[in-house]
Amino acid sequence: MTDCIFCKIIAGDIPSVKVYEDDDVLAFLDISQATPGHTLLVPKTHVADLFAYDTALAETVFARLPKIARAIKASDPRILGLNVLNNNGEVAYQSVFHSHIHLIPRYSEDDDFSIHFGDHTADYTPAQLEAIAEGIRAKVGD
Ligand code: 5GP
Ligand code: ZN
Repeated sequence: MTDCIFCKIIAGDIPSVKVYEDDDVLAFLDISQATPGHTLLVPKTHVADLFAYDTALAETVFARLPKIARAIKASDPRILGLNVLNNNGEVAYQSVFHSHIHLIPRYSEDDDFSIHFGDHTADYTPAQLEAIAEGIRAKVGD
């Protein structure tokens, strides 16, 4: 896609700091390192977001995650864990609309990255949860 910054990175038209590449995916350092080693994994084919993946592309891209995660962790003994994050849609903080998966190594609970889920365990009755789940189940295709 001509106007896509990650397509330009994949094509080599914009420089990137690569950590892994094969025929189907590229992994490179995020220009803004949330923590040192923060890596983006992208499919080489342009897809906007997770909603646009077919099963074959998902198998290709997500299958690469463990080995890249292991490599990041092995690269620095200070790395204790790693968050995998995939933003879909502006409301979910997506800013580049070529699908990408963040791998964010974690050095401590006080490093410069956090996720806040809140505690909503008391917010729903079992019937409400069942209704939500049924709405999703009815839409699961292949
Ligand atoms: P999003 O907010 O869409 O989930 O994440 C997009 C990420 O792409 C951001 O973390 C941002 O720092 C990164 N990014 C944006 N432009 C570039 C770029 O030109 N090069 C690299 N390496 N990362 C970029
Ligand atoms: Zn693209």
